[in-house]
Amino acid sequence: MTRLTGGEVRERFLRFFERNTHTVVSSSSLVPIDDPTLLFTNAGMVQFKGALLGTDPRPYRRATTVQKCLRVSGKHNDLENVGRTARHHTFFEMLGNFSFGDYFKQGAIEFGWEFLTRDLGLPADRLWATIYQDDDEAFELWRKIAGLPTDRIVRLGEKDNFWAMGDTGPCGPCSELIIDQGPGVGCGRPTCGIECGCDRYLELWNLVFMQYSRDTFGKLTPLPKPSIDTGAGLERIAAVCQGVKSNFETDLIRPLISAVEHLTNKTYGAEEKHDVSMRVIADHARAVTFLLADGVLPNNEGRGYVLRRILRRGLRHARLLGLDEPFLATVTDKVIDLMMVAYPELEGSRSHVARLAGVEEDRFGHLLREALPRLHDLIQKVKEKRAERAVLPGSKLFELYDTYGLPRDLIDEIAIEQSVECDWSGFEAELKTQQERSRASFKAFGEFQDTAGAYKELPKATRTTFLGYDLLESEASVVALLSDGLPVERISAGQEGEVLLDKTPFYAEAGGQVGDTGALRGDALLAEVLDTKRPLHGVVMHRVRVKRGEIRNGQRLLASVDAVRRSTTVKNHTATHLVHAALRQILGDHVRQEGSLVAPDRLRFDFRHYGPVTGAEADRIEEMVNEKLWTNVPVLVEEMRLEEALAKGALAFFGDKYGDDVRVVSVSDFSIELCGGTHTKATGEIGLFKISHEAGIAAGIRRIEALTGPGAFQHLKREEEVLRESADRLKSKPLEVPERVDRLFDSTRALEREVQTLRAKLGGEIAEELLKEATQVSGITLVAGKAEGFDQRALRELADRLKARIGSGVIVVAAPTDGRVSWVAMVTPDLITRLHAGTLVKEVAAITGGGGGGRPDLAEAGGKDPGKLDQALAQVPELIQRLLR
Ligand code: ATP
Ligand code: MG
Repeated sequence: MTRLTGGEVRERFLRFFERNTHTVVSSSSLVPIDDPTLLFTNAGMVQFKGALLGTDPRPYRRATTVQKCLRVSGKHNDLENVGRTARHHTFFEMLGNFSFGDYFKQGAIEFGWEFLTRDLGLPADRLWATIYQDDDEAFELWRKIAGLPTDRIVRLGEKDNFWAMGDTGPCGPCSELIIDQGPGVGCGRPTCGIECGCDRYLELWNLVFMQYSRDTFGKLTPLPKPSIDTGAGLERIAAVCQGVKSNFETDLIRPLISAVEHLTNKTYGAEEKHDVSMRVIADHARAVTFLLADGVLPNNEGRGYVLRRILRRGLRHARLLGLDEPFLATVTDKVIDLMMVAYPELEGSRSHVARLAGVEEDRFGHLLREALPRLHDLIQKVKEKRAERAVLPGSKLFELYDTYGLPRDLIDEIAIEQSVECDWSGFEAELKTQQERSRASFKAFGEFQDTAGAYKELPKATRTTFLGYDLLESEASVVALLSDGLPVERISAGQEGEVLLDKTPFYAEAGGQVGDTGALRGDALLAEVLDTKRPLHGVVMHRVRVKRGEIRNGQRLLASVDAVRRSTTVKNHTATHLVHAALRQILGDHVRQEGSLVAPDRLRFDFRHYGPVTGAEADRIEEMVNEKLWTNVPVLVEEMRLEEALAKGALAFFGDKYGDDVRVVSVSDFSIELCGGTHTKATGEIGLFKISHEAGIAAGIRRIEALTGPGAFQHLKREEEVLRESADRLKSKPLEVPERVDRLFDSTRALEREVQTLRAKLGGEIAEELLKEATQVSGITLVAGKAEGFDQRALRELADRLKARIGSGVIVVAAPTDGRVSWVAMVTPDLITRLHAGTLVKEVAAITGGGGGGRPDLAEAGGKDPGKLDQALAQVPELIQRLLR
């Protein structure tokens, strides 16, 4: 047996199947495309679902891949296994070969056996096979092809060896290839056997024989063309080839552990507890690196939340190793070094990954500083109760976990330290409700979730030929009609429904570009097309409202796209590409498209960038894009092989699904993108480009909104009008507006100063007058009176001034303003035990039809009836006498 590196195993696998006429297909993103039901790609077959179902035919019938996989959620969740077994990872690479109605069981078993025993030279006498209990065919094939003795072919039940895509749909028995690593590996118990959960009997490869379709009643019908889907863990095969007992000791992962050894000054293998942490860190660093590179951003929901949890788990284990300094970027960098050859796209994400890892690490440090004191408080409170058992309540635990992000194991550890218990079952209950909530919201984003089923039931003929790159109008035949998700024969005047045509010029919403609108016309028929979407790959759905006549199944009609709307939309689409290119030139290569909206009236472009786009940068972006418009560069659209496009430097994005032949849209060598959208013929058609808005929408994500052509012109026109109108009102010329406004401000400030001085003077004068009228009530000095034209603030100043003059006493001042009355009452500190300013002002204001209150020394109030003001003032002495204590 040769010692092969992980990279060599990967290559050998692909070359073996390539020699056997399989098409090599690249790994799809960890974020599954077109599949809102799945958080992460967890097997090689994910990108081939459509091909296996027959809804998305491929130009090949045999394929082979090395697929990036993540198993941290849903049916396959290996998170808790990581670090504790020698064979489980969160992120791993799955080697796979697929047959879409081509070879079946025999081929799959022959290929699997030949590759492992001949190509890799694994010892045949240590290999075992498991099969589904009833699968005699597989049993015979293992006997015949591999010559396996009957005791090394093990029949297992449905749970282990029957595979299904979902509750309904394709399914079938499967068969696993297992290697016995000998009694020295694993649990070492005499009872250990092939079904033991330990590492001795290592599952290498699972061959799935998709031969049935299961209906809603659970009935199995044989598929006309059975298919093959297989998956083998690269790391496991590498471990076996390298003669090591654990995936973590292969050249794919061991260097990461070395990096951690180096960072922590600890030796791998010295202490089991530490070894687990080292393995977890190595594993999680791989997952984090690939998730970030595939465009997932850490946040608090869905995929981002899973990423954040993995990342924090890694950080948590680093703390267990005594590592308090930021370190993650060092390890993710190492991941990129190791994996770059197989995944060249990682190199371009290097700084993005390091940066986000750093940001998250900071944030986590912060959080611990915030959350740990809360946990300690909680523990303190529980202990103070001196109950028989000190238990931290589940709801509080969940809050610490969910709101503050405190990891469970950390809570547990501290609780043990502090001799308190944790109510984890209460916690689980809270967690469950939350998960149900998030699952519900996650489902909601698959807009066609409900109706997609209806389309799947339709005959294959519903695949629509798209003519809209060249035509805006075409004859077509109706191949299906749906109303409320159910097939119907006709849609009549006044009704809405969905129309499928054999061919169409209508562009269905995709890649950010909105769906076309327009009309369907026929004899006596007029239907408005409200929107166009793609519920399934290759199927175009026209949402219509019938205005006149009716649409019938099979009918010929004329489909016409709203040409004006389309023409403004394409301007925005081409401009989006130009913005993207300009952003990369001006802000840097890290800029990466996160999403876009291409509508008839505007475009929106979301991208990764740290920090705001400055005014000067926005100006340069605008200028650069406009320069491309003025030079009227042709927009070139070509079809080519994916590899060729990538070699040309075409930008491809996460979130888009690419076949092997791709459409490339380029504007000289300024912008080259893979894109299925519609575009202008040359940049000059766009006419004008104007950024209307720039803002941050999430951590590290910015959004630019912009306008083109007539929209941009209208925008500028509107701004010009506002400017002209402002100039008119200011009695100046448009270009002189700023100067004029400055002068106005200057004069306002001067006036304000003057008002201040005059008010002070007036206040002084009024104060003198009021003081002259001061009286004594039960030996207390009372100054009461009104000050015409004073606002609340001026009244307060007046009262202050009076207070300073009398030293001890009571002040009540009021002012009638705009049909209302303002009141201020003050009581000097020496008297507040006897009289409350709030009570006083409340009673006196009540006479003027109002109310108020305040502190014992200062209170304010308002009234509605200025006519009663004098009467109210006259009653103040009496009131004071009554209120005095
Ligand atoms: P196991 O029982 O060992 O968890 P599985 O039955 O879940 O494996 P499959 O779903 O059949 O595995 O996946 C196909 C292959 O992918 C497995 O035979 C194995 O080689 C590999 N594999 C599965 N899960 C992991 C994992 N978490 N880490 C590494 N490799 C894995
Ligand atoms: Mg598993």
